[in-house]
Parts: sequence; structure tokens; C-alpha cells
Amino acid sequence: MPEQSSPLDLAEGDPFGPHNLPYGVFSTPDHPEDRRVGVRIGNHVLDAGAAAHALGSPYAQLLAQPDLTALLSAGRTAWRDVRRALTAWVTVPAHRADIEPLLHPVDAVTLHLPYAVADYVDFYASENHATNVGKIFRPNAEALTPNWKHLPIGYHGRSGTVVVSGTDVVRPSGQRKAPTDPAPVFGPSVKLDIEAEVGFVVGVGSEQGRPVPLGGFRDHVFGLCLLNDWSARDIQAWEYVPLGPFLGKSFATSVSAWVTPLEALEAARIAPPARDFPLLPYLEDAGEEEAGGLDLRISVAINGQVVAEPPFATMYWTAAQMLAQMTVNGASLRTGDLYGSGTVSGAEPGQRGSLLELTWNGSEPLDLPDGKRTFLEDGDTVTMTAWAPGPDGTRVGLGEVTGRIVPAS
Ligand code: MN
Repeated sequence: MPEQSSPLDLAEGDPFGPHNLPYGVFSTPDHPEDRRVGVRIGNHVLDAGAAAHALGSPYAQLLAQPDLTALLSAGRTAWRDVRRALTAWVTVPAHRADIEPLLHPVDAVTLHLPYAVADYVDFYASENHATNVGKIFRPNAEALTPNWKHLPIGYHGRSGTVVVSGTDVVRPSGQRKAPTDPAPVFGPSVKLDIEAEVGFVVGVGSEQGRPVPLGGFRDHVFGLCLLNDWSARDIQAWEYVPLGPFLGKSFATSVSAWVTPLEALEAARIAPPARDFPLLPYLEDAGEEEAGGLDLRISVAINGQVVAEPPFATMYWTAAQMLAQMTVNGASLRTGDLYGSGTVSGAEPGQRGSLLELTWNGSEPLDLPDGKRTFLEDGDTVTMTAWAPGPDGTRVGLGEVTGRIVPAS
């Protein structure tokens, strides 16, 4: 019989290898109240605070915590140093005896929302998505509104209803009025949808009155997660004019339990897209080293069946531009702020990140193994996964975000 292998002996090409090391918060069944910072390695979670104590690390103060707040606010130099230390802990053979007892199978722990979400903003940064939505909702007008290519459009969402992956989503109720209805009606949404997005997590805050320039992106943003901006299209369509999304969005937003540090995504950095015309200086990113796009390959599945593969590389606006936009008026950032990219949709029909687009507002149902689908049905489980190119041909796996629809209460 072969010797029992160590959880640290990962299969070649494991997307959660030592080149990745995303952060989360977990508890174990025997101590459900004891939340701890965890770092994922393969299919295990390293109790990072206990490891720091065991190895006499100066970073115990940042890692032996019930959530990621201390680490997020510590800043870019600390992020780099902690990551270097963690990399050594999971790769240097001399540390194995200390580290192995502190690894928990990821399936045996409970994962929690890893930080208190401060403010939540959601953008609309995919040209393909914005064009599709324009065609569906405003068929007689230009698909893109006149402002779209001048600034990243966004709205302030509801941070208190951001939930961690695995949390059930209760079907929202509200007012809706189809164009053919004589009057609005109230009831459970009949057009419950998904939005496949990437969420960016702010670590270091900023001072009110001082905009964050494009070049400040990596000083303020710690990492990213997958995000599902659940959307009730019927509620949204009736309420959104003229102030934008409100109750059709605010009932739940799901995020992955793992925050992938930007440092793990160096190999995924790509040039920003070509622009049709020069942007105003605060958004102009030509030659801006710290900004640029990211090559993330997202996959969306309903009840296990893949329905879309949206490519984040196609986004028109970058995360750095979104950050510059949301602070250009002097609005401050706080540790734990979260901003979503907006639905990621590629140019191909199979790359659309919402059912609104995939079924063209319900007119072209999807064929799933359990029947046709226009919008989500009670009991449906939506799971998003993603990966990015890593160093030396590896892949960096992002934590999945999943949620099941339960009937309206
Ligand atoms: Mn959205």
C-alpha cells in the first residue's frame, strides 16, 4: 500500500495550488462559534492564525482573527509579506509537521462571509451586456445610452443583503406591471434571474474628498470574488425609471466564500480594451501600469448543466476605472467595500451572463435536462465557477458561488 499522502502533495495543475492561496473564514462543527481566517490549499483549508502562532510568525496579529478585516486594512506591503509567508508554510518541507495538523478538509468546515461588507456598488461594465439589455428593453432606441462609453455606469446597492455562497435565496415578491397589464399586481417575481459578475473587495480605505486615481487601484483593492447579482426582472422593469435598480436587486447578492488576492492574478493581467475615443483624463488608462483588464473565464451552471461561459476579458471598463469613477466626486472608500463589475457577457450567445440575455427575455427558452427554462424556478441551484491563467501554464481557481432558489415566503 502506498504511504498516506499529505494534503500538501497536490496533483499537478491543481487550481488551488500554492500559486493561488485565496482567503476565507471558516468554522468547524465542534466549534461552530469560533470563526477563523482560512487559506485554501487544494481541497483543504489551513487555519492561518493557528499556523502563524505555531511558526512564531509576526503576522499572527493579522491572521488570528475572526474575519479578514485586519488583513484587508493592513495594506499592500503587508498583503505581499503575508502571502510570501503563507507560500513558504505550505511549500517548505520543514514546516510540514507544524502545518499538516492545521489543515481541515474544505468539505468538513462551514465557510462564512469573510468580512463585513461596508458599501456595495454594482456597475454595468460589459458592452455586450449593456447592448443586449438595451435591445431587449428599448428596441426602438440606440442600444447603448449616450453616456455609456464616457463613464462606467453604476448604482449603490444594499450591503446588508450580501450573502456567502451556499445561502438559500428566497424568491422576492413585489410590484410588477407588464406593458399589457391594465394595473400593477403584487406577488412573487415570475422573472427571477442571475447576473454573473466579478466582485472587487476594497482593503484600504480612502479619505473623503480625495479621489482615488487609476494608479491607486492596487493600493486599495485587495482581491476579487465571484458574485451573483440575483435580479427580479419584472420588479426591476416596473420600478427602475427614473432612479435605477432598487427592490428588484436588493433582496440578495451572493459572493464566493474565497477572496482571491490580486497578487495571485498577475499572469491574468491583460491590456485594457481599445477605446473608440480618448477618455477624460481620470479614466484614461492607456499606458497606466497599475490598471488594465483581467482574463477570467467564468462558467454558469443551473442544476449542474453549464448554460454560459462569460469571458471577463471582454469587459469594456476595468476594475481600476470603476474605482476611479466611484471616488472621483470625493466619495470615500472603507475597508470591506465591495463593487461588482456588472453582468459579464461575451459576444457569443453562449457567453451571456444572464437569463434575460440567454433566453432573450423569455422568448427563447433554454433546454435543460429537467425541462425548458426561461427564468429561475423554485428549487433551481445556480453555480458559478471561474479560473484565470496562472504562472507557468497553471490555472488559478476562483471560489465558486452557488445558491438555491426557495419559494417566496
Ligand atoms: Mn448587476
